[in-house]
Parts: sequence; structure tokens; C-alpha cells
Amino acid sequence: MDSLPPTTERDPHAAIREEVRKLCLGFPGAYWRVLDREHAYPEAFVRALADQGWLAALIPEEYGGSGLPLSAAAAILEEIQRAGCNGGACHAQMYIMGALLRHGSAAQKSLYLPQIASGALRLQAFGVTEPGSGTDTTALKTTARRDGDEYVINGQKIWTSRAEHSDLMLLLARTAPREQTAKRTDGLSVFLVDMRKVKGLTIRPIRTMMNHATTEVFFDDMRIPADALIGEAGRGFRYILSGMNAERILIAAECIGDAKWFIEKTTAYAKERVVFGRPIGQNQGIQFPVAKAYAHMRAAELMVYHAAALFESGRDCGAEANMAKMLAADASWEAAEACVQTHGGFGFAEEYDVERKFRETRLYQVAPISTNLILSYLAEHVLGLPRSY
Ligand SMILES: Cc1cc2nc3c(=O)[nH]c(=O)nc-3n(C[C@H](O)[C@H](O)[C@H](O)COP(=O)(O)OP(=O)(O)OC[C@H]3O[C@@H](n4cnc5c(N)ncnc54)[C@H](O)[C@@H]3O)c2cc1C
Repeated sequence: MDSLPPTTERDPHAAIREEVRKLCLGFPGAYWRVLDREHAYPEAFVRALADQGWLAALIPEEYGGSGLPLSAAAAILEEIQRAGCNGGACHAQMYIMGALLRHGSAAQKSLYLPQIASGALRLQAFGVTEPGSGTDTTALKTTARRDGDEYVINGQKIWTSRAEHSDLMLLLARTAPREQTAKRTDGLSVFLVDMRKVKGLTIRPIRTMMNHATTEVFFDDMRIPADALIGEAGRGFRYILSGMNAERILIAAECIGDAKWFIEKTTAYAKERVVFGRPIGQNQGIQFPVAKAYAHMRAAELMVYHAAALFESGRDCGAEANMAKMLAADASWEAAEACVQTHGGFGFAEEYDVERKFRETRLYQVAPISTNLILSYLAEHVLGLPRSY
């Protein structure tokens, strides 16, 4: 666990990291392997995180959370991944509540935030992506039609992760037809759906290459109270966008944790595995890929810190959050590659956890935003090149 040199001279979140590591010791590889085989949800792990308050890190103290900055949440998620656990089971609670925090009414905040902070309610589901829209979010077709003091929801979402294990869902739906809005980003609204209380909601699990509890969700005349609307109708896309930098930074931190896990695992194995009468780690063909992955991880980590610092000081961090996510996801994937290769055949054996983590970290090349779209963002918004799509 501590085989890598410390990454900062003075880590303001060292105590948090230490506590999260201790918690994770109770959830070793064997725990994740069983769940992975059965595609089961890590209920005990998520409960333990909630009981110790880690999932309420970003909720202000007045609502029962610990009011910590984003960098603390990043440290929590990084340590979870570094310990070989999988924060994908619950990470969304950290970033999707930003929409409620920033744009929710006082009544919504005082109703939901204390219950989320205590762990009584889970806000883990984020319904944005649709089969027909993909990355082009504003093309989404799920509608929310106002009917008296209710909204009636019809449509479908895909990849709505953790929907079966969450009480609440943050849902993005269309309240005005695209052709009737001045901008394509108008006419979308965000709702906080209490899934325990609705009819007309069907959730179907999707089996994926890793255990991610993801689903497709169907809305068939699903009625929700009008006060489930967050902020103003029609401004939902902006609300979602405003949370995306936090999401990118936190996912990047998870990738840094993954990269560290792979690098530690690789070096430990390379030191102990003897072939041709010497440790395989004595061969430069084994050393260089992991050394390169380490250098790339450290560079990505600096970008994560930089993006988090900009975010915390209230400055624009769109480019840095995107770069942090891309560089960290690349670093974790590179480290994963080196880890499998160094383990030879054992890299494919379940009991080493390498193949499981390899599958898990692959996701972050695609979700929550794919590398191509980050590059397009940088080309257009930072380099001033013409929009490509
Ligand atoms: C396991 C898993 C969990 C997920 N969880 C959630 C969740 O909880 N909530 C949620 O709302 N969504 C979730 N997603 C969805 C995820 O955010 C999307 O998969 C992702 O944004 C990509 O969208 P898409 O799959 O429709 O790909 P598409 O948009 O169809 O893109 C396919 C490929 O084409 C490329 N591409 C598309 N347009 C361009 C372009 N203009 N230029 C260059 N390349 C382009 C993309 O980079 C990608 O590689 C999850 C996905 C997965 C796989």
C-alpha cells in the first residue's frame, strides 16, 4: 500500500486517506471477486462508506455532511481505488448532488440532504444518456409534460448506473421541444425523482464486462410532483454542465488510484517473480513500461490537483478538469496494460484481481465522457479551432 513515494510534501488530506485505507482493508480482493462473478452490488462496502460519512463529504455541515472541499472527495475516491476497491458503486453521490446543492430550493435541500448525509437515502442514479442521443445530450427525447401539479415523464434512459440500488434519481428530461427553443441547450429540465414513490418506472439491468450495476430505465407515464423540478424549467442542461467539472475531477482521482494500484501490484510482482534465475523486474523490458506509467500517473495527478484547486477557488476549470480526466484515464490504462503484461499468464487469473481491475478501469476511456470528446473540447475551446461536430 505504501510502496510508492509520497506524492506531495504536505498532504492536507492525509488523515482522510488513512481512515479510508483502514475501511478498505475490510473489503479485500476476495470480497470483490465474489461480487464480480455474480454481478452483485457491494452493499456492505457502500453501507460502510455511508456509515462513516465518506459519501456525505461534500454535503454542507448544516445539512449533516462534513462540508469538505472537492479535493477531499477526490482523496477519498482515489484511496478507494488504490486499495483495489471499486468506487464506481457509489461515486455518483459525490458529484450529482452538486445540482441539488447549487440549484435546489431550500425545501428540497432540507428535505433530502440530511437524509442523504445520514445514509438513509441514496442519490446514486443519474439519468442523462439515452440510446438515441449518446454523447449528444441535447438530442435526448425523454419528455416531462406539466399536468397540473405534476409532471408526466415518458421515454427511456440507458446506462443509468446504480438505479436499482438508489432511492433517488437525478433525471434530465425535455420540457420544451427542441425545435421550439432558441438554443439547442434550452428546453431541458432536471428533476429529483423519488423512485420509491413512482409508478410507470421499469429498470432493467445491463450486463457489462465489469460489475457496474448499470441499467436501462423506461418511463411510461411516470407521474412525479411538480416540486421535483430542480431550479427553473428549461435550464437543466446548464445545471448538469455545472456539475460536470466536479465529475471529471473525481473520476480522474479514481483513475489515479487505479494507476497506483496497478503500479504497486506490478512492481511487487516484478520483484518476486523469478524466471531464468533472476527477478523479472531486473529486465528493462519489464521496468520501462511501469516506469513510464508511473511518470504519466504523476503528471496526471498534478493536473488533478491543479483542476481541483481551480474548482475550489471558484475559477473556470473546464479545460483542466477535462485534461485531468483524460490524462488520468490514460495513465490508469497504461498502468493496467503494464500490470497484465508483467503478470504474464497470472494477469488473466481471477485470484490476482489484475484482470478485474483491468476491466474496471477500461470504462474511463469512454465514460462519463470519452477521450475523443475531451480532445474536441480542447481543440475548440482552448485552441480556437472550428467545432468539428
Ligand atoms: C458502464 C457505464 C456506466 C455509465 N453510467 C452512466 C450513468 O450513470 N448515467 C448516464 O447518464 N450515463 C452513463 N453512461 C453513459 C456514458 O456517459 C456514455 O456511454 C458516454 O458518454 C458515451 O456515449 P455513448 O455510449 O452513447 O457513445 P456515442 O456517443 O455513441 O459515441 C461512440 C464513440 O464515438 C465517438 N464519437 C462520438 N461523437 C464524436 C465526435 N463528434 N468526434 C469524435 N468522436 C466521436 C465517441 O468518443 C465514442 O468513442 C455509462 C456508460 C457505461 C458504459
